[in-house]
Amino acid sequence: MVGNPASTAAAGEASAAEGSDWDYAPAPESRDIVTIRPENGLFIDGEFVPPATGDSFATLNPASEEKLADVAAGGAADVDRAVTAARHAFDQTWGQLPGRERAKYLYRIARAIQERAREFAVLESLDNGKPVKESRDVDVPLAAAHFFYHAGWADKLGYAGFGPQPRPLGVAGQVIPWNFPLLMAAWKLAPALATGNTCVLKPAETTPLTALLLAEVIQEAGLPPGTVNVITGDGRTGADIVGHPGINKIAFTGSTEVGKQIQRAIAGTGKKLTLELGGKAANVVFDDAAIDQAVEGIVNGIFFNQGHVCCAGSRLLLAEPIADTVLDRLKQRLSTLRLGDPLDKNTDIGAINSRQQLDKIEGLVAAGEAEGAQRWSPPCQLPAKGYWFPPTVFSGVSQSHRIAREEIFGPVLSVLTFRTPEEAVAKANNTPYGLSAGVWTEKGSRILWMAGRLRAGVVWANTYNRFDPASPFGGYQESGFGREGGRAGLAAYLGA
Ligand code: NDP
Repeated sequence: MVGNPASTAAAGEASAAEGSDWDYAPAPESRDIVTIRPENGLFIDGEFVPPATGDSFATLNPASEEKLADVAAGGAADVDRAVTAARHAFDQTWGQLPGRERAKYLYRIARAIQERAREFAVLESLDNGKPVKESRDVDVPLAAAHFFYHAGWADKLGYAGFGPQPRPLGVAGQVIPWNFPLLMAAWKLAPALATGNTCVLKPAETTPLTALLLAEVIQEAGLPPGTVNVITGDGRTGADIVGHPGINKIAFTGSTEVGKQIQRAIAGTGKKLTLELGGKAANVVFDDAAIDQAVEGIVNGIFFNQGHVCCAGSRLLLAEPIADTVLDRLKQRLSTLRLGDPLDKNTDIGAINSRQQLDKIEGLVAAGEAEGAQRWSPPCQLPAKGYWFPPTVFSGVSQSHRIAREEIFGPVLSVLTFRTPEEAVAKANNTPYGLSAGVWTEKGSRILWMAGRLRAGVVWANTYNRFDPASPFGGYQESGFGREGGRAGLAAYLGA
């Protein structure tokens, strides 16, 4: 593993092992493209306004612990103003527009995201800690793609199989997490707007900045005031949105625990609900798989975005005959990854998003060691400041271990083995979650056999972590319910 940007002893070992003595030069993306306001208000009724509470909180760069900005802490009165503005827009402006008019605005937002892609990518990496090559190549293009895709649906809803004139639900309250801040905002806003709803969105406390930049884009795109409102704040602000009587639908992505609280809070209110919660996905590698390809898929499955991914392939199930070979190659591959400055274009592993999340990862890793699993990480020097955790592999994991059962949400892989396809299915399904799974084999028949038996909303075959706005995403059991993306995702914002 190579520390980045400063070369380290570990870097020397890695390059010596490869028989070469060169190293990557630093390739930092400039942060000059981003202008961060020191103080940020709430976006209500088309304007940036101070919060009624007068309170604010700081958002940090997790790679350096440097304060990036102060952000308004919205309270119940602010949520009420936002819901009133959204209701007015639903009744008087946005909700009255024909689909072809709504589509124009969505296309405008999509194009503005593309035009300002570098700015969004740098800001996302600063606020979240993810490598800029991921925010640049995954988060931002997919966010634009979601607006483009849903713009295409806006004037065709009558042909989507929901009846000739499907109706929007009204005001949608949308609460999103910190792992893909801009992308999750796009996943929530694009289908809601395409179907004619208006929105009150709350980004996560640790990553509010790209949602505020998106609000600026929405303002410039000229959407009627109140169509989209962005209320920054913590969990209490989220609870205020969930509990507001003027909201017709709640869409939530985050932890299973908060998802359950939300479900309890709105029981009996008639509000519609979609929940996209945690996961503990199995990535299953059979003995006929293309091993180098599978190793890339394993790395992408769990180390992409520091493992802060609800559908991460956090449990690796290896067929016994190939287990040692795959583990050896995986360790070699992990030794070449570069951890460090998220703004460096060569960085593979960025910072952990918050002190709180780092504590959670460290706690579960300590539990893995205490329960007897074998821990391995490549030689790696972590930066002195900021929140960091090295890529970590646990072998000798049994199904009862906490690291095999609980969502770690970090760069930590638990490796188990199996002897038969039936055993692979039984182990993969032995989880309270059911969001995603991966299968690696050269036999199409085996892929179909597995896909029919795995209790997971998404099953990837010979690939992992592929996303497309046309493809529905969502889970079973404690991973939540409802789908986002595709035709199924539209249904979540339409009534009879
Ligand atoms: P949370 O579920 O607490 O946060 C998700 C969003 O909900 C945030 O905007 C949060 O605000 C808000 N929120 C918190 N409490 C409430 C509430 N009572 N009512 C309404 N909204 C609320 O996740 P955490 O950020 O605390 O992460 C904890 C764990 O959850 C992680 O370790 C991981 O395992 C899992 N997780 C799963 C995600 C997924 O994509 N499935 C995403 C994020 C986390 P605030 O940011 O201020 O807390």
